[in-house]
Amino acid sequence: MTFFRQRWLAMVGLLLGYIAIEWIEYGREQLLAGIEPLDPSVGLAFAALLLGGPSFLPVVVIGEIGAAMFRSGGQIPAMTALLPALSVGFSWGIAALVLRRFANLRLAGQHNLVLLIVAAAAASLGTAAGDAASFWLAPEQHDGAVTQVLTRAWIGDMIGAMVVTPLLLVMRPPLPLPSRAAAIEATIQGAVALTMLWLLFTLPAAAEWQLYDLLVLPSIWAAARFGVRGAVVINIVLQIGMVAAFVMVVKDADAVTAYQFRMLILTLSTLFLGVAVTERRSVEDTLRRRQDQLDRCARLSMAGEMAAALAHELNQPLSAALTYSRTAQRLLDSPGGDPTKLRAAMNGAATQAERAGMIIRTLREFIGRGELNRQPQSLPTLVRDSLALLELDYQRAGIRVEAVLDRTLPPVLVDAVQVQQVLLNLLRNAIEAMEPSSVPRRLVTVVARPIDPGTVTVEVADSGPGLDQDLVARLFQPFSTTKAAGMGLGLAICRTIIEAHGGRLWLAGNSPGGCSFRFTLPVVSGTKTGGQA
Ligand code: ADP
Repeated sequence: MTFFRQRWLAMVGLLLGYIAIEWIEYGREQLLAGIEPLDPSVGLAFAALLLGGPSFLPVVVIGEIGAAMFRSGGQIPAMTALLPALSVGFSWGIAALVLRRFANLRLAGQHNLVLLIVAAAAASLGTAAGDAASFWLAPEQHDGAVTQVLTRAWIGDMIGAMVVTPLLLVMRPPLPLPSRAAAIEATIQGAVALTMLWLLFTLPAAAEWQLYDLLVLPSIWAAARFGVRGAVVINIVLQIGMVAAFVMVVKDADAVTAYQFRMLILTLSTLFLGVAVTERRSVEDTLRRRQDQLDRCARLSMAGEMAAALAHELNQPLSAALTYSRTAQRLLDSPGGDPTKLRAAMNGAATQAERAGMIIRTLREFIGRGELNRQPQSLPTLVRDSLALLELDYQRAGIRVEAVLDRTLPPVLVDAVQVQQVLLNLLRNAIEAMEPSSVPRRLVTVVARPIDPGTVTVEVADSGPGLDQDLVARLFQPFSTTKAAGMGLGLAICRTIIEAHGGRLWLAGNSPGGCSFRFTLPVVSGTKTGGQA
């Protein structure tokens, strides 16, 4: 229902447009020796046929007949006006049909503008042919030769179509409201355009100095800044100004035709520039939107990885705290439980809970600052503390631990919680590898020694079954695991931490008798390492 109402309203609007244009132009043609420098009704009709489709054709024909009769002051009968009106309807109707099928009517992209220009040029030729026929039928109504009449009719229609049609195609709702700054800039552009027109038609030497090019400035400015919308608006402003100047100043039909040819070139160039600018902006917008989507995806996946990493890191201290608490519970339940053992178990649980808190704090700080809290640390202390945290696990699994810590080890410049994280991950992996009953000899060795004046190396080796060859290639990739409850993040996190410290982590040895991991760390600058590996 609304659709039909809108359609009817548009048809009435088209007829009113015809009436308004004829009323404005009434009598002006006489001033220009019978030529019509611009036919906006053609542009209006073309836009209506493009947007509304063939159902607007009868309205266009009626409008054309009415306009011709009005122009002649009722001198020509409707039947004589019918032939040119049909030629307008036929030519522009076919052009509109083709464009509706093949072109984007918002002129998105250069090829759509080219299609519009070609279609309009062909249609205005068709109309001009109709005019030529009327010339042949009633030569006394025209001044000049047939070629002249044809050329003037063609340029008038073409300019009308190129100025009015793109304006109606592009400035359709929804239109965004311009910002204050844009509105001010557009007003200045309009003022500059009118000033240039005034100069062009009032300066005595304007023709001699070829000042026509003055109009290029506001055109390019508007198209470059506001794209196709700027182009269509500046084109109509300049065209209205031109027609006013023709009527008031030029009054010479040949000069008007020459101006109109230059105006057509300027109008088309401005449209091309405007379409190119809008096209580039829309490509930039699309790219920006894609980038935003990618960023959002990256952030989401980072958040997912962070959550997985946090779960992985917290798992160990929390399960250790649970084991200590259960031990404490058992000691409390058993009659005559040893208070020293009870205190040790409670202490163990508290230490593990503190450690969980520290992991969360470190991660939060890392996310907040994006950097590590690096302080000079004693490597032997870090190793011993890590071993102590896992003592219960070693004892339960019957694993012997050997730590070879070089006495000459200089302090390392590291984030203690993070490096302990690495040690705990490697040690825990070693324990888990040796847990199956098939492993007869259970030994973990930690060796730390300097390798060059600025670096120390730490090796964690075990006597477990070693790694499968196909796992070795993707060992440090996230989510590579062979454990039922494993997340496959431990080694990936370890490598990230060590690399963030400027070191390296790698699989140093792998055999059925066990495997070893090695990593390097930087020493505090100014301190010397005591030896070579
Ligand atoms: P997760 O321990 O959660 O599986 P990791 O990244 O720490 O994740 O380890 C990945 C895999 O590497 C483990 O599932 C295990 O198969 C293997 N692995 C790591 N360390 C050892 C080791 N010392 N001995 C044998 N296999 C190991």
